[in-house]
Amino acid sequence: MSPSNLASVAVGRPVRGEFTYVVPEGLTGRLSPGQRILVPFGRSMSLGFFLGPATPPPEAESVKLKPIMKVLEDSPSLPPDLIALLRFAAEHYRYPLGEVIKSALPPGLTKAEVEKEAKPDVQEFAVALVTEAPAILRRAPAQSAALAYLLAVGGRAPLEEVAHAIPGARETLRKLVERGLVRIDEEVIAPGVKEGLAQGRPEQLTPEQDAAVKELHTAIDTGGFQPFLLHGVTGSGKTEVYLRAVERALAHGKGSLVLVPEIALTPQLVGRFRSRFGAEVAVLHSGLKDRERLFHWQALRKGTVRIAVGVRSAVFAPVENLGLVVVDEEHDPSFKQEDKLRYQARDLAVVRAKQAGAVVVLGSATPSLETLENTRRGRYRKLELKNRVDDRPMPTISLVDLRQERPREPLVHEEAPILSPPLLDAMAETIAKGQQVILFLNRRGHSTFLICEVCGTSVKCSECDVCLTYHRSQNRVVCHYCGVAHPVPEHCRECTGPLLKMGIGTERVEAEVAERIPQARVARLDRDSATSAERLTEMLASFARREIDVLVGTQMVAKGHDFPGVTLVCVVMADTSLAIPDFRAAERTFHLLTQVAGRAGRGKDPGRVLVQTYNPEADPVKRMLVHDFDGFAQRELERRKVLAWPPYTRMAAVRLEGESAEQTASVARQLGDFITRQMPPASWGVRLLGPALAPISRIRGRTRWQLLLKAPTHAALAPLLARLEAKLVDIPSAVRVTIDVDPAAML
Ligand code: ADP
Ligand code: ZN
Repeated sequence: MSPSNLASVAVGRPVRGEFTYVVPEGLTGRLSPGQRILVPFGRSMSLGFFLGPATPPPEAESVKLKPIMKVLEDSPSLPPDLIALLRFAAEHYRYPLGEVIKSALPPGLTKAEVEKEAKPDVQEFAVALVTEAPAILRRAPAQSAALAYLLAVGGRAPLEEVAHAIPGARETLRKLVERGLVRIDEEVIAPGVKEGLAQGRPEQLTPEQDAAVKELHTAIDTGGFQPFLLHGVTGSGKTEVYLRAVERALAHGKGSLVLVPEIALTPQLVGRFRSRFGAEVAVLHSGLKDRERLFHWQALRKGTVRIAVGVRSAVFAPVENLGLVVVDEEHDPSFKQEDKLRYQARDLAVVRAKQAGAVVVLGSATPSLETLENTRRGRYRKLELKNRVDDRPMPTISLVDLRQERPREPLVHEEAPILSPPLLDAMAETIAKGQQVILFLNRRGHSTFLICEVCGTSVKCSECDVCLTYHRSQNRVVCHYCGVAHPVPEHCRECTGPLLKMGIGTERVEAEVAERIPQARVARLDRDSATSAERLTEMLASFARREIDVLVGTQMVAKGHDFPGVTLVCVVMADTSLAIPDFRAAERTFHLLTQVAGRAGRGKDPGRVLVQTYNPEADPVKRMLVHDFDGFAQRELERRKVLAWPPYTRMAAVRLEGESAEQTASVARQLGDFITRQMPPASWGVRLLGPALAPISRIRGRTRWQLLLKAPTHAALAPLLARLEAKLVDIPSAVRVTIDVDPAAML
């Protein structure tokens, strides 16, 4: 059998590796890599992906080879650079290749069916006919939200996009049309249509933007893989740098891929891409319908749309002739997927750029230490924007030491207050000037735990090893891991003693603001209040319209918002995320504090930031006060080096979960023994920590164990992980084992 007769195929089933099939005579010359095909597998037929010619297996096995049955599409769904990326992902993250490919494809292409062309080629666009929401909409929140979304994205968006951002928007938009506020246009999507090119394009770049753009243009003109870190302080105009780089790639006929953390939270950024590039942009988010995902996929494959802007999973978007990859807010934890294929999209973005020979830009005000270390080693080139646009000053940051500045006694409620006099004074002063305030606390609910005053027992979830959070608005205690809610217990279960409400959440902060500053219009933004994309958009829009004075919220308020009215940002408690048993706790704290502080003073009025803490000596707190990112990073990197944590070590976590505590423990020990036996020579430096119960030892009634592997390089870890993956077929199915390579979550 000649090699040209043999095909390497990934099968769309949860099985490891690639399989060899015979190319039947009728199909010779009709196959190209990346095509979806039909193959016999086991006793049935399965979807397969032709990856290229295969080398002949040993004689004895080739007799059993089966033929490819059918080709399901003319032009391949997967472009060559994407095949390379998916192979890398399967190998690196130890996940079956066929499943990796299926998770990248739109649902319309994951069935063993002949490819259908996605309709429509005609798309409906909603166009706002006003530039702000008129007063008559005050009593129509749904219409107001739909209009707010449209205005936020530049006044014009496909109907479909508004409809996933805001459920029910089709109906709502019709009402807006009746009111004469919105128009619906029907358009045939034609390639190369660039609308509103001049819209919002600043005439002049700042000198720093100009220098960064020049370097990127040179890199794009030269071509080839060139990675950059764009380290720009908050408000320095990073987005404009991305836009100019995308323009240049387009001028060379090349496509761009732009990854952003969350689209619902950053409609402004999407709007800027849309208003600059019009129909050249596909916006890819988790709310897309199957047909729309297929439509975008096909448009990108055909090259009729050349820019993809999207969340994590867009790293797999089939952008043709890829010239540029951008990862905005590259430090953001949302780039790590925490189930199934546990990939880090920022890392895959760099791999993809390398395979495609593209320029890649990782942008952030607070780069991850991994990216920073790559820059220090000379792997990435650094572009810096140290100043804000228009010479706006960075906000001044000051500390409120809660050990000295005791909050005053409460007026009504029995709980200890949390807002100190300096904070309350600053808030009242800001509101009196007609300016706005953001209050940040990274915990939702009212009180984060209930504890017995007599015996000290805290109220825990019956299914999870975590304390229940008291939510006053629902009058319930809720588990933030499994979501179970119970009525509030009146007494301790152990000793019937009275229960104290301890630990502060956003609900309680909101109540305290309302009580202390009655004239303030307060709202809360967290996962409890922003129950839908509709509410979220409406709340952000209402804050932008200055109908709210004080916005209290979790990390949702820290993301890339650009609210010019905000001149005061208060961090209610800087310490909350420091105590988490995770080696990245300090880094996350620094990032969050810096990002939320960056919301202050983005307009013409200067901003200030007040940070309440019980730990003024903690390094992330001290450094963020003086905008000392470099100093923080330097010290944290030294600490990581001493303790052998990433970026100086590569890690993999093996996690186990099972109903039975004994069985899970026994499987964990079994895997521990297996790893110990399979350990490479000591000189490779691979180390095993555990098996041990996970820091949260039970979730949803399932016991959790983990093993951590550390090694100087991923290459030292890879053979061991491959053997471990092969071993997992022997594990009883009652215990679920997952391998998490380069893990983010440590709990
Ligand atoms: P970052 O992402 O770095 O925090 P943005 O990209 O959101 O900052 O830019 C901050 C603000 O400055 C935006 O409102 C943007 O439109 C504006 N901006 C950016 N570049 C310029 C420029 N060269 N001239 C005027 N305004 C600019
Ligand atoms: Zn629970």
